Amino acid sequence: MAAPFSPETREAALAALPSADLDLLVIGGGITGAAVARDAALRGLAVALVERIDWAAGTSSRSSKLIHGGVRYLQQGDVSLVREAAAERAVLRRIAPHLALPCRMLMPTRSRAAQAKLGLGLWTFERIAGIPADERYERWSASETLRREPTLDGTQLHGAVTFTEYLTDDARLVLDTVRGAHAAGALCANHAEVTAVEGCEVTLQDAFGGPVRRVRSRAVVNAAGPWVDVVRARARALSGARLHLTKGILTYLGTTDTDYGAPTAYPEVTSEDAAYLFEAAERTFAAPALTSADVVATWAGLRPLLHEEGKGPSEISRRDEIMEAENGLVSIAGGKLTTHRRMAERVVDLVCRRLGVTRPCRTDTVALPNGEEGPEALRRLAQEVAERLPQLRPGGAERLIALHGTGCRRLLARIAARPEAGAPLPGPSGVLGAEIEEAIDEEMALTLEDVLDRRTRLLLFDARQGLETLEAVATLAAARLGWDRTRTAAEIDGYRHLAASLRSFA
Ligand SMILES: Cc1cc2nc3c(=O)[nH]c(=O)nc-3n(C[C@H](O)[C@H](O)[C@H](O)COP(=O)(O)OP(=O)(O)OC[C@H]3O[C@@H](n4cnc5c(N)ncnc54)[C@H](O)[C@@H]3O)c2cc1C
Repeated sequence: MAAPFSPETREAALAALPSADLDLLVIGGGITGAAVARDAALRGLAVALVERIDWAAGTSSRSSKLIHGGVRYLQQGDVSLVREAAAERAVLRRIAPHLALPCRMLMPTRSRAAQAKLGLGLWTFERIAGIPADERYERWSASETLRREPTLDGTQLHGAVTFTEYLTDDARLVLDTVRGAHAAGALCANHAEVTAVEGCEVTLQDAFGGPVRRVRSRAVVNAAGPWVDVVRARARALSGARLHLTKGILTYLGTTDTDYGAPTAYPEVTSEDAAYLFEAAERTFAAPALTSADVVATWAGLRPLLHEEGKGPSEISRRDEIMEAENGLVSIAGGKLTTHRRMAERVVDLVCRRLGVTRPCRTDTVALPNGEEGPEALRRLAQEVAERLPQLRPGGAERLIALHGTGCRRLLARIAARPEAGAPLPGPSGVLGAEIEEAIDEEMALTLEDVLDRRTRLLLFDARQGLETLEAVATLAAARLGWDRTRTAAEIDGYRHLAASLRSFA
């Protein structure tokens, strides 16, 4: 059994890296880098994965959190991408059912022609993608639509078309993928930045002040998302295709697609971005118009797309591309959360060819950690969680299953051993102390932001952004991670500042 995915495991990985005999070093712990590391480790390669901030701290925690069937690629005439996206959705449902939850989407229509066009598009998509019968689209009349969605504006409504997409938790998907890489033997360290690349040797800087380390590997893959070109520049390998960053923002209202300049860790949501979404909501719903005072949280992410001359943000292809530099650096950019596994397979195939080994990809059959059991078993586990933890808030058992999958059993065991860990912490979410302990002991969280944004998701989905829970979490984290008062105060201030920045457009 693999060691816990803990701060101590990170320290041990960092200490081992300078003398490790590595086949592959992966730069960037978003979904792309995590998937490359897991694939390569499962093929038996000696792998390391390093991430500058935290697992999923870049675009991979700021997506719309959908595993797309790929219907929009049909509009672009990209049938092979439709097939790939639909097939990947089915794979994810198999290897991580807690991270691929079917969800009905609804598109209101204003005319018979629009309804017919959408229906035809979805019919074609479902035949190409092989969508199972119970997930196929339905057409609703205006009265049926308003009966089921009474908040819609019915004045110009013709009807609606509904179809199935899958919801995921993007940051948790990355985390379980990295944990899968770790379980297969990869050395993984977050908060460790590659500051220089010289051929197959990189310089690694520990964000917490550890020694600067030099790490050698037979192959290096640059999966730095929006920073792919920054890393290529550091490696003096910036030739050929270039990135074209577009910014998408999202409350749970919708998203945008606008050009963006140099990559930043925290792209801002502007008042223009917000106004665009408020106007769209006002056109669609009969409810009183939304204002910035209604916003709990926002997020914005940068799409690392490949530049195509003359094309606007929404026209650029979402396909991925592998770029090989003369000095050996392999970079991968573009793509989607949905198709990450196939992107990784293509990269690792290339690395294997370079290393002169033949090893088949196994990522479509090996379950992710926490994803070992199917939807029916998860439903039974949710029931058990609800019965054994009556202190959970309504919906709490489902929340824990969506975050932890079968890992809920570890939480239950932790609480059985120390019942005080099962006490809810202050704040509307009712998050349990055991969840914070789990985030540090088993999920390599090292800062309050790691815990509250990417492990528990309170920053985005708690009605108070986790601010009422912050002090209690800081006390637990400080005791476990050995923080002094200065560090604890800096962590609390930093988190408050981040939470405020997500509402700053108001
Ligand atoms: C608003 C929005 C909505 C989206 N919605 C969806 C959706 O619903 N479904 C879908 O399938 N896709 C969606 N996408 C696309 C998807 O989120 C991205 O394609 C994907 O997350 C990119 O992952 P990545 O790993 O390539 O990049 P990232 O997640 O950004 O990962 C790159 C990582 O590299 C790290 N890094 C950078 N430089 C260094 C360095 N020098 N050393 C070490 N580490 C480094 C960064 O910190 C970062 O964590 C959306 C994108 C956006 C912006």
